[in-house]
Order: sequence, then structure tokens, then C-alpha cells
Amino acid sequence: MFSMVIRERELFIKKEAILMRKRMCPYFKNKEGIIMRFLTKSLYMSGQQCPRLLWFSSRNQLPELSLYDQHKFAQGRDFEKYVKKLFPDGLDLGNLNYGENIKETQNLIRQSKTIFEACMVYKNLFFKGDILEPSADGWNLYEMKASTEVKKKKEYIPDLAFQKYICEKNGIKIINCFIEYINKDYIKQGNISPNELVLQEDVTGEVNQIDDIEENSEKYIETMEQAKPPEVSISKKCNRPYECPLKDECRSNLPEYHVLQLTNWRKYWELFEEGILDIKDIPKDEIFSSNKDRVIKEAVDGNRIIINKDKIRCFLKELQYPFYYLDFETFDTAIPIFDQSRPYQKISFQYSLHVQDENNKVKHFDFLAQREKDPRPELLVRLEKEIGQSGSVIVFNKTFEIGVLNKLAEDFPKYESFITHTIDRIIDLAEPFKNYDYYNPIQKGRYSLKAVLPAITGKDYSDLEIDNGTDASMKYFYSHIKADLKNVDEIRNNLLKYCGLDTEGMIWIIEELNRMVS
Ligand code: SF4
Repeated sequence: MFSMVIRERELFIKKEAILMRKRMCPYFKNKEGIIMRFLTKSLYMSGQQCPRLLWFSSRNQLPELSLYDQHKFAQGRDFEKYVKKLFPDGLDLGNLNYGENIKETQNLIRQSKTIFEACMVYKNLFFKGDILEPSADGWNLYEMKASTEVKKKKEYIPDLAFQKYICEKNGIKIINCFIEYINKDYIKQGNISPNELVLQEDVTGEVNQIDDIEENSEKYIETMEQAKPPEVSISKKCNRPYECPLKDECRSNLPEYHVLQLTNWRKYWELFEEGILDIKDIPKDEIFSSNKDRVIKEAVDGNRIIINKDKIRCFLKELQYPFYYLDFETFDTAIPIFDQSRPYQKISFQYSLHVQDENNKVKHFDFLAQREKDPRPELLVRLEKEIGQSGSVIVFNKTFEIGVLNKLAEDFPKYESFITHTIDRIIDLAEPFKNYDYYNPIQKGRYSLKAVLPAITGKDYSDLEIDNGTDASMKYFYSHIKADLKNVDEIRNNLLKYCGLDTEGMIWIIEELNRMVS
């Protein structure tokens, strides 16, 4: 038994060492003989968010990355290629292992060269920086962020301050710190123009104000070396600055109907901090500022559905036959792929349209683009033909569909009048649920179609291979645009089923609402 434990431990250490090498990050053995990563800038950032997250990250014990997470990282890498073009003399050390990189970085610094992916260490701290550029009196540090906004992203500052601290401990004086980010208004026409795509923000002042890197780093290394993960209570920090990948695990012990399902987040954290976790434990005389939270409390306490029949009747009265139930699927990329599109613009590649007349006769149309080419022109031709001239266009969460349609009108102006008319016909089926005119406790504070459909009809997406929009988007993108996934026919079939259920599900919801108020 004992030798088995030793063997498992050896295997663990070996596996970790391989992982560390792959990640090109130095590592050391802690007091228990466990191989630990150096405190990298991403670990430093995890430490800024939560010690528990830091502990699990430092041991590579986070849940596996989803296809969507991998997609986000790929967007960052795509953007970096264009930023690097703005530094034509830069030398890229990205392919060296960390040991070679650290030596070569020092060598290039001596020669005053611009360096991409420079590595530096100080004690147990390590960073691989994006761009280090010589300037008149020292060096400039650049961080690339595949984001369209930097002003509100305060988390970028400690990231640069950490790098600056290690540089200066290596005798490299940092004069300026910049963030290179994406111009959200850039419209692709032909080849990508890095000069127009990339924007720069000087954050030297903000970085220079940070003076707690040493103190925090010592604290974080101590946390990483602990034998057990720190016990940390969930808090607002679980979503800030990023949604923590351990959220499901940390929330697994909460009661089924917990206070975080309320809509007023100030209230729910207040209750949470008072130790009230279960909605049922909120005192009956608690004053809620929002009617929505009163509805949730009443539904959970009585274990029953709450329905405001008058409001639902008013909503249903607005609908005009024929009903056109519409749903788009989209993907987006940091670097626009098609002409006349922008960074992170939602490109619609699929729609499902169910048409229902007064006699309850239903027809179904769907569109799913073929590979590689811009799906939008063909989608518009088909949609114009199929969506008719009159009758309500029923969507679930109109902000999304209207956003997609507005961009289509902007990019293909010859369709503008049909699109504007279609937008005028839109009715949002999410409204009664957002307003909590209907609430079933099994929604658990959510009003998305995926939460409402089972709550109202008892039907759900569990039999489908693709059961959510993110998955649909990723499967389409990596099978049709990138051609990485090979089972294209199967994916197409699953996409058609998924999007079809979104619109058919809306028919069932309206039928059920009618039945409830009749
Ligand atoms: S979910 Fe919250 S408490 Fe748990 S590790 Fe993440 S940030 Fe920390």
C-alpha cells in the first residue's frame, strides 16, 4: 500500500514536471516535495482574486478548459500576431524553453533589442512579458490584451506592475508601461491593418502607484506552499475580475434555493454575510426593495409557481398573427474574418424560424450556412423571403436579436428597410419572465429560455448533443470556419436540432401561458 502511494506520488511529480516544462515556467520543490510553479504573473493575478483559486491554479488543479475558454485564449494569440507587426525589429523568444529564454533575454537586453516573450526571474517570481522595448533612458513594457476596453479593466495594472517589479529587481529600469488593445470600431476591408486594429493606452502612472508587489508575492508564495487549500467563503470576488473556474465546486454546499438566486445582488450579499444562506431562512418581514425578490421568496416559501395572470394576459394580447418565432446563432472573433465586420461582432450563421397562423398551423424554416464564406448575405436573402411582412416576430431576449439585426442593416444597407421593419415587429418573450410575472422555484433565479422552458413545459434540452448557444457557436466555428472538427455532417444535424428547439420551445411556452390565463 505504502509503495503504491509513493509510486502515485512519483508519477504525480513526473507528470507535473512535464507539464511545467511544457508551460515553459520554472518550478521548485516545496517542503513536502511537491513540485510548485514559480509565482507567475497569471498566478499573481489569481492571488489578487482569491487565495483558494491561487492554491488550485498553482497545482494545475483547475477544471479542464472548455472549448469556449480555449477559443478565448486563441483570440488572444491571434491579436498578438498583429501587435507584433507594429514592432518590426522585435525578436521573438516565444519558442525557447524558459531556461534558454531567460539567458537570451539578458543577452538581448545587453544589445538593447526589442524582445517579444522575454522571460525573467527574481527569487521564486517569474514572468514572460509580451514586449520589452528599449527607450532613451531605460525600457518600455507592453502588455497585449485582446479586449476592446482598458479604462475600466483595473486588473491589467497589477499584471504590469508585477512585471515591472521583476524587471527592476534585475536592474532593468522601466520608463513607460503600455497596454495594446483592440479598436472595437475597426472595420475589416481586405487585409487586416495592424495600425488601425491596435490601440494603445499609456498606464505608466497607474502602474507606478502600485507598491505592494513584494508584500503580496510573499503572501501568495506562502499560500501556494500550504499543504491544504485555504478555506475561503464565496463572495463578490468570485466574479471579479473574472468568473472563477472553481465557482461550481465552491457553491456545491449551498442550499438548493440559496440567497444568491435573488435579483438584488447588494441584498443577497448582505444576507449571505449575515449567515442567511437559504431563501426560506429570510425572515418573513424582510423588506425587499424589488418586487422580483418578493416573488422569489413567496415562490420558494410556498414551493409553488407565482403567476400574475393580468400581466401575462396583457403580454399575450400584444401578439399578432401570424407569429414568427425567430432565433439566431452567432460566433465572434477578436480579429474580424469577413470584410465589413468588426472585432467581436456577432456573425449570424444560423437561424430557426417557426411560423404559426391563427389556426395553429405551424411551418418551420431554417438556415445554416455552409463552410468558410461569409454567411450573412445568404442568410439575409433567405430571412427576407421567409419572415413575411406582418405579424409578430417573437424572440427570447430581444437585445441579442436586435443587436444582430442592427449590425446586419449597418453592414448590408440594401436590406436596411426590411430589417428595420422586422425589428419593429419584435416582441420579447423573455419580458414576462424578466419581470417575474411568472416564476417557478425550479428556475433558481434564472429567466433564460433554458431555465423557463422546463419550468413551464417540463421539456428541456437534455436529449440534444448541443444544448446551449455557446456550444453551438464553438461547434460551428471549429467545424465550418477553422475546419478543426471533422464530423461536420453530425454537427450540422445537431445544430439544426438545437436551434429548432429554441423556436419550437417558444411556441410551447406561449401555448402554456395561454392555457394558464384562460
Ligand atoms: S469560487 Fe470564489 S471562493 Fe471559490 S476559489 Fe473561486 S474566488 Fe475563491
